[in-house]
Amino acid sequence: MAIDRIGNKCCGCRACLQKCKFDAISFVTDTYGFEYPEIDSTRCVNCGACEKVCPIINDTYSSDTGLCGMAYALDAKTKYNGSSGGLFGVFAESIIAQGGVVFGAAFDENLKLKTTKAETLEELIPLYKSKYLLCDTSYQFSAIETELKKNRIVLYCSSPCQISALKLYLQKEYDNLLTLDFVCHGVGSQSLFDKSIAYTEEKEGLEIKAVTLRYKKANASSHYYYAYSYLKDGKFHERSDLYFSFPYYNAYCKQLVCRDSCYDCKFAARERVGDITIGDFHSIEKYHPDIDRFAGVSMFLVNTPKGQKWFDLIKEKIHWRKMDKETIYKNNRFSDEVVIPSEQPAFRESIANEPFETTVKRFLKPSRDWKKLIYYKAPKFLRKIIMKLR
Ligand SMILES: Cc1cc2nc3c(=O)[nH]c(=O)nc-3n(C[C@H](O)[C@H](O)[C@H](O)COP(=O)(O)OP(=O)(O)OC[C@H]3O[C@@H](n4cnc5c(N)ncnc54)[C@H](O)[C@@H]3O)c2cc1C
Repeated sequence: MAIDRIGNKCCGCRACLQKCKFDAISFVTDTYGFEYPEIDSTRCVNCGACEKVCPIINDTYSSDTGLCGMAYALDAKTKYNGSSGGLFGVFAESIIAQGGVVFGAAFDENLKLKTTKAETLEELIPLYKSKYLLCDTSYQFSAIETELKKNRIVLYCSSPCQISALKLYLQKEYDNLLTLDFVCHGVGSQSLFDKSIAYTEEKEGLEIKAVTLRYKKANASSHYYYAYSYLKDGKFHERSDLYFSFPYYNAYCKQLVCRDSCYDCKFAARERVGDITIGDFHSIEKYHPDIDRFAGVSMFLVNTPKGQKWFDLIKEKIHWRKMDKETIYKNNRFSDEVVIPSEQPAFRESIANEPFETTVKRFLKPSRDWKKLIYYKAPKFLRKIIMKLR
């Protein structure tokens, strides 16, 4: 199987592109905005290196040591910085304090999502929080390898497919590499995200400089606020709103935007690839009514002895409770079953063939979500009652 023939099963990790010594692989965007590998047959020597690092073709599951539960960072700022309980931040800050280096996903100055290195607490800031689009890993796997070979401690936090891709790329185990995968509902494309930014800029007459998904508004009524900072009349401003006001975020939450490989994902499984798995715990109040789910709570699974060692090192910095594994599995995406919304094929065709304004009008009008708007604007006590009745 040549790497370009895995077709829409490709998860876009770019391990193949990074492994190819002959510069024979490039990523090209299809009509729906998704990027797939293409082989230049004049350069390809059929060495098969690309196939050996493909996480769709090969498996890299970790063992399972069993500890799992809920947790959040005790430090309020670390928790605030994270999408849920700030667990990534706790590990990352600890690695940096020990002279290590962290790799995660951050937007560059053109709002392109790229695997990015952080060596200081300041450099860590853009890495916090979920960004629900494919992160471009290009040429960062070799940067990680370089740090590992220098014997520095490296933390890599990413989607399970990208963690698996890195492990295959490295082709050996490193004691100084800690990997954190997250429970993942899939990623959309950079191209659609770009369209959404351009649409908002045009509609509002401003220039967006930074975007934060999973913005934590004070006394947040939802996990799904977003914020952007923008330049208008030479001054910086910030605006935040519920997810359905930003077309990309709205489409993501409606599960319209994911790659094909995400709708049928082999990594959405109980077998994990990272040393530790982190995720949201939206239903925590069912099991621990004293915990406020809106304040930010993560779930975690420790998957390897190395993960356990690191968990023991940071556990003074978190509030955590052990929980039953089945409860964790049942409350999150640990199986590849996902219902593709009936609107998704028409949505894709609209993206390919219609101006983006038309796609927004047909599928993403915020007024379609009026019930959610009422719910999110209701006082917290009322929302908790509604949640219990559901
Ligand atoms: C695309 C995506 C889908 C997710 N789906 C689910 C889900 O279905 N259920 C669930 O429980 N949790 C999901 N999560 C995880 C969840 O949103 C939180 O990231 C997780 O709970 C950790 O929160 P935190 O506060 O500990 O850390 P955070 O500060 O939120 O850390 C997030 C980490 O992920 C990295 N990251 C962010 N975006 C990307 C990206 N696009 N690609 C690669 N790395 C990235 C960041 O660099 C950082 O290291 C998803 C995350 C992403 C990015």
